Amino acid sequence: RPVYELRGVAKSYARRSIHALDRVDLTLTEGSFSSVIGPSGCGKSTLLKIMAGVLPPTEGSVYLEGTPVTGTRRDIGMMFQQATLFPWRTTLENIVLPIEIRDGKKAARAMHDEARALLDLVGLKGFDSVRPNELSGGMAQRAAICRMLITKPAVLLLDEPFSALDELSRDFMNMELQRICMERNATAFLVTHSIPEAVILSDTVYVMSPRPGNFVEAINIDLPRP
Ligand code: ADP
Ligand code: ADP
Repeated sequence: RPVYELRGVAKSYARRSIHALDRVDLTLTEGSFSSVIGPSGCGKSTLLKIMAGVLPPTEGSVYLEGTPVTGTRRDIGMMFQQATLFPWRTTLENIVLPIEIRDGKKAARAMHDEARALLDLVGLKGFDSVRPNELSGGMAQRAAICRMLITKPAVLLLDEPFSALDELSRDFMNMELQRICMERNATAFLVTHSIPEAVILSDTVYVMSPRPGNFVEAINIDLPRP
């Protein structure tokens, strides 16, 4: 079942002089894990922002579950290189922040148990009242995973979420992420610079050409998954 559909998506910046994306067609099926690799500047972040609805395409359309994506949506979860937790809030308060923004303080408080369950899921049991400056980089990214999952998004858009971590932590976090996606039947789309990472995690790897925009090839990976 197709979850995401991009049709002829193009993006130019600076009054059309920079062509970041050139007519991208892409379909993501439910529960799939796809990655996009390509050199810096080829348009990966632009693509992700358009899929998230935070950047309007110059041409083309993006559909999620058959509905056009315009503006941010609660069923899209996002993660970036930096966890960007608010230092004055506890871990738990950071995790429920998307709920607080969307539905208010009372609704956020009602999600505390759910947030604790998520902390448990990512191995941060008992860290609810700790402030972000007491967390390691890996722990902060795990808290960011919880914050992404609290709204129960059907789609996860991931822009090099663990690139700031050391190699061992990154491998570990990738496995955690893969497990969570499978458990929730989430559809994931990952931007990465690492070919091994893309190959290990994904069903399909999209390769973006260094010339702005186009995918050159979609490589389907047929490995047994855990
Ligand atoms: P990455 O390291 O992920 O490849 P970049 O360092 O190229 O990303 O870009 C970081 C941020 O700066 C992005 O949000 C991107 O949209 C923005 N950016 C990149 N190039 C330009 C540019 N020429 N003018 C304005 N903003 C840019
Ligand atoms: P990647 O994530 O693959 O590094 P980006 O999507 O960040 O690539 O950038 C693709 C192209 O668009 C680059 O040439 C970059 O300089 C340009 N670009 C990105 N964001 C902006 C922006 N806000 N304004 C102008 N140019 C941008």
